[in-house]
Amino acid sequence: HAKSEGRNNYQIYNERINMFSADYLDMENDLRQALVNKEFVLYYQPIIDAKTHRIHKLEALIRWQHPTKGLLSPVVFIPVAEELGLIEGIGAWVLEQACTDLVQMHKTHPEVQMAVNLTAGEFSNPELVKKVKSVLDKTGLPGRFLTLEITESMLISQLEKAINTLKGLKKMGIVIAIDDFGTGYSSLSYLKRLPLDFLKVDRSFVKDIPEDNNDMEITAAVISMAQKLHLQVVAEGVETEEQLRFLEGNSCNYYQGYLFSKPKPYAELETVFTEMLTKLDQEVL
Ligand code: C2E
Ligand code: MG
Ligand code: MG
Ligand code: MG
Repeated sequence: HAKSEGRNNYQIYNERINMFSADYLDMENDLRQALVNKEFVLYYQPIIDAKTHRIHKLEALIRWQHPTKGLLSPVVFIPVAEELGLIEGIGAWVLEQACTDLVQMHKTHPEVQMAVNLTAGEFSNPELVKKVKSVLDKTGLPGRFLTLEITESMLISQLEKAINTLKGLKKMGIVIAIDDFGTGYSSLSYLKRLPLDFLKVDRSFVKDIPEDNNDMEITAAVISMAQKLHLQVVAEGVETEEQLRFLEGNSCNYYQGYLFSKPKPYAELETVFTEMLTKLDQEVL
C-alpha cells in the first residue's frame, strides 16, 4: 500500500513508462510547470586530468527539485521530457545555465571546461547548431570550452545528418564526447570517420574492476583502440583506488567518479577545487 506512494513513485515508471497511468499524467503536469517554476538545478561533477590530477572539465548534470517529491534524478524525468516534447526547453535552459556558470567560474579557474549532455531529440534537432551558437554568443563563452556529450545510437540512426551536425559544431570549436561508450551498438572503425574528441567508457565496465577480468580486458582494449584513433578517453564511475590504479596502468586520459567527487551544486565547487589541490599537495609530499 504505502509502497506505491511516497517520493519514489516515479522510479517505477522509469524504464517502461505506462502512458495511461495516473503517475505519468501527474509527472506530465508537474514537468510542464517545472521550467516556469524554476525547479531544475544543475549539479557539476569534475573530470580529472590523469597527468595533472587537476579538474579539467565539469559535467553538468540536471536534477529536479520537485516541490513534494524531493530531488529527482534525470534518469527518471529526462526520458519523459523527451517523450512529451519538453526536452527542447529544458535542454536550452541547461545549456545556457551551464555556460553562464562556467563563464563565472573562469574568474577563478580560467582553464576549466564544461560538458553538457544531449538527448537524441536534441541532437537530431536541425536547429541545434544555431541554438548552441546563440548561447555561446549570449554568454561570451568560446566554443572550445564546451563539450557536448552524445551517445553512439544517436550517430548510427542517421549517420549523414549526424556528420553534418558534428561538422557545424566543430566549426564553432565545440568538443564532442561519446558518452556511455560500449553500451550501444558501435564500431570503432566507423567512429574514425566522425569528428569526435572524447570517448567515455561506461561505468558498467569500470564498476567491477578489479574483480571482473572481462571488464578489465574490455576497458583496456577500448582505451588502447580509442587512443589509436586519436580519441581522449574518460573513465566514468571511478570509485576506488584499485580502479584508479588499473586505469592509470592502462594510460587512461581522464577520470570521473565518486573517488574524486560526486556531482555538486555550483556553490560547492570552490570547495571541491580547493580540496583537490590539497590532495594533490599531499600526494606530492
Ligand atoms: P551520464 O551522462 O553518463 O552521467 C554520469 C552519471 O553517472 C551521473 O548520473 C553521475 O552522477 C553518475 N556517476 C558519476 N560518477 C559516479 C560514480 O563514481 N558512481 C556512481 N554510482 N555513479 C556515478 P546522473 O547525474 O543521475 O545522470 C544520469 C544520466 O542522466 C546522465 O548519464 C545523462 O545521460 C542524463 N542527464 C543528466 N543531466 C542531463 C542533462 O542536463 N541533459 C540531458 N539530456 N541528459 C542529462
Ligand atoms: Mg554524460
Ligand atoms: Mg556517461
Ligand atoms: Mg552513463
